[in-house]
Amino acid sequence: MQSDQIRQTFLDYFSQHGHQIMSSSPLVLSSDTSLLFVNAGMVRFKDVFLGLAPAPSARVCSSQKCLRVSGKHNDLESVGVSPRHHTFFEMLGNFSFGDYFKREAITYAWELLTVVFKLPVERVWITVHQDDLEAVRLWKALGVQPERILPFGDKDNFWSMGETGPCGPCSEIHYYQGDLRLQRAEGVNSEDDDYMELWNLVFMQYDRDEHGELTPLEVPAVDTGMGLERLAMILQGVKTSYETDLFQPILRRIRELTSHDEQQRVTYNRIADHSRAIAFLLADGIVPGNGGREYVLRRLIRRAAYFGQTLGLAQPFLAMLLQIVIEHFAQAYPELQERSMVIQEIVTTEEKRFQRTLTKGLRYLEDISGYLSESGQRILPGSEAFKLHDTFGFPLDLTQKILADHGVTVNTTEYAVERSRQQQRSRQHALFK
Ligand code: ATP
Ligand code: MG
Ligand code: MG
Ligand code: MG
Repeated sequence: MQSDQIRQTFLDYFSQHGHQIMSSSPLVLSSDTSLLFVNAGMVRFKDVFLGLAPAPSARVCSSQKCLRVSGKHNDLESVGVSPRHHTFFEMLGNFSFGDYFKREAITYAWELLTVVFKLPVERVWITVHQDDLEAVRLWKALGVQPERILPFGDKDNFWSMGETGPCGPCSEIHYYQGDLRLQRAEGVNSEDDDYMELWNLVFMQYDRDEHGELTPLEVPAVDTGMGLERLAMILQGVKTSYETDLFQPILRRIRELTSHDEQQRVTYNRIADHSRAIAFLLADGIVPGNGGREYVLRRLIRRAAYFGQTLGLAQPFLAMLLQIVIEHFAQAYPELQERSMVIQEIVTTEEKRFQRTLTKGLRYLEDISGYLSESGQRILPGSEAFKLHDTFGFPLDLTQKILADHGVTVNTTEYAVERSRQQQRSRQHALFK
């Protein structure tokens, strides 16, 4: 089943069960300053959960654009290596605002996965919060074998959007993709990639304040989230999301542009991942810049340009990849097509600007890391990292990423001191002017 059809089947199923289909919110909600980017389907409904805004409908479903590159949920460093973590991804979700609760949420999820999508039950595992005996009972009532229902603590089965805001215990559906004879309960929530978290059902019951204090919500609600990329992996019978139709066209293009080298798989994956994030951020009106959200976008573009450079792509190439993203998602997210010209222009300008200093910066970095290793040092002084930032436009995380491959870390305390010194200098300069 192709991803467009999977997304639609999900929305149709919940629509048939009385849910209003809502199109995704933008990646940025200016009304919420506690988050840089939407990182889950529930974020745009935060005020509804808190009782501060009316619900659009008691039952809603959506496919939400999400970005996890900052704050509590940051998956940037796993991208490329992990078979299933992306910066940008689509979260399929159904929501109940004081309408149904655990029983229906669990029943819908089970029916959709095992009857509509026909996932084999012998590969499905369920996790519940250790105190949630009701959830255990409900899963058993659906015929799930008791030994496949596993209790976990707050770390895995208590969900929160950020440091503050709505939160609650959750129950998750995991899926095993390995050899059936080797399945074991210990694999769930472990490092073993044969086990994959697929769908999180959150029973929203509390609001957490700045002191970590939990206050019960007036009306308990349901919030669920399932990664489209992960469901597509299962339904397309592949073990990484990069092998699904959501990534293949982009990867094909990267391979055409470079000499096909499977050793570079992780780099290909990273570029494909970042291309999607960059396209969707630009489509939502974010432009590269020096602070906050703008700097996140700039960092993604610069990382992608750097990864491209390591594959021998010295000329701007991102616009070509973004065009594929735009075409592929044209139906589901029309904003991409609408802003396609601007998207291509901005990304190319930003890429060109960075490519002017990238080669020099890399050479400089090579020189210092050569010097460091000769003298047996493993820490780059903060002033050097700052120079790379200030002179060559290397975001700190990019410098760290490159040096990590040589076993070198950056003195980030010194870096922060250098940066605030410079900020002070430019403030004084502005004052003087
Ligand atoms: P994981 O444990 O795999 O990091 P999570 O517990 O952080 O996932 P949730 O916050 O529960 O994820 O989000 C709900 C669902 O969104 C997950 O079950 C998964 O299907 C999907 N998901 C989460 N993070 C990512 C990501 N970085 N890329 C793609 N899909 C994701
Ligand atoms: Mg995670
Ligand atoms: Mg998890
Ligand atoms: Mg989870």
